[in-house]
Amino acid sequence: MKIHEYQAKEIFRKYGIPVPQGKVALDPKGARRIAEEIGGPVAVKAQVLVGGRGKAGGVKLATTPEEAEEHATEILGMEIKGEVVNKVLVTQAVDIKSEAYMGIVVDRSSKRPVVMVSPAGGVDIEEVARETPEKIHKFAVDPLTGLLPHQARGMCFKLYEEYQPVREASSVLTRLYQAFMESDASLAEINPLVVTPNGEVWAIDAKINIDDNGLYRQREIEAMREVTPEEEQEIEAKAKGLSYIKLQGNIGCVVNGAGLAMATMDLIKRYGGEPANFLDIGGSSSPEKVTNAMEILLRDKNVRAVFFNIFGGITRCDDVANGIVEAMEKFPLNIPIVVRLTGTNEERARDILKSTPLIPVSSMAEGARKAIELARGRQNSISE
Ligand code: GDP
Ligand code: MN
Repeated sequence: MKIHEYQAKEIFRKYGIPVPQGKVALDPKGARRIAEEIGGPVAVKAQVLVGGRGKAGGVKLATTPEEAEEHATEILGMEIKGEVVNKVLVTQAVDIKSEAYMGIVVDRSSKRPVVMVSPAGGVDIEEVARETPEKIHKFAVDPLTGLLPHQARGMCFKLYEEYQPVREASSVLTRLYQAFMESDASLAEINPLVVTPNGEVWAIDAKINIDDNGLYRQREIEAMREVTPEEEQEIEAKAKGLSYIKLQGNIGCVVNGAGLAMATMDLIKRYGGEPANFLDIGGSSSPEKVTNAMEILLRDKNVRAVFFNIFGGITRCDDVANGIVEAMEKFPLNIPIVVRLTGTNEERARDILKSTPLIPVSSMAEGARKAIELARGRQNSISE
């Protein structure tokens, strides 16, 4: 899960990392009021979940509240890498003498949290890694001991020559490590960490990604989530024991098991179609799960045909068939449904489905082709 800069900064503050004061505004007047409160130069910053805002014109400095309002007018509504800006952070501006990079990631190859620092801060770190990899310094932390003070200092000596900023930055790094571990983060990053002309150290940008598998014990962070309508559907599906991911195609897929779901999507693509979703109804499916799945699926107006691909094991084919029949009674289904049910109780399922307008198929490939054909036919008949 990604969170916004202002939210990451709230976490930083809790751990005592020096972050300039600031507040979020939803409109230009709000930005002006915050700038008045701060009473000095401010930075107006687009709050989106993508990086590179500075380059895209989403970060602007203002010396007066009027100017802050003007910048907010420009930035709000702007699109950065496909994401529309609907919030700006108005924060006290800091004088910059130098910009450094400081980050921690979970590293799969060393199986440890890896601390990375670079004196080439403020720019895209991937670019630094590509072009001047010698400017990035890494250290794999032993999670049993944590990041020890001398190790943190050692890293910060790669950033500064004088002891004062090294000491301040090591304290920031130690706190960042603590925040990283205690938040179940997969990444925590300060880019740039700046030193001011009078020697103060500030984190003027903040990024934290949380490992979704840790969210169950990160209630406060989970509450920071701002859900898009699509995510809302995915969350609703999850609450009903389904895993649903919306995609851009027109063929709705209802499948049991993540592997089979992937295989079904691959097959649809192979025959030239586009899946509208990933939907795994899981094992031991009750008829209710199937009706829930259909309800979620059919809210997507792009869906032109549905392909049920069920491999009956613990999931019984007759349960799924009953679910489809119930769903058909509950919602007016005016799109074709292709069904492949194989395995446990498949004969019983076939009997149940006999008197319905469902289209039975006997193999995955046939089902995928049939669904694509039907989806195309419908699209044509609608557009004509
Ligand atoms: P990003 O581009 O999305 O990573 O956004 P950042 O928060 O890192 O801001 C981009 C750049 O704007 C920074 O690298 C700084 O050069 C500049 N910037 C941001 N805040 C301030 C500030 O308070 N003072 C000054 N002088 N520059 C700032
Ligand atoms: Mn940045």
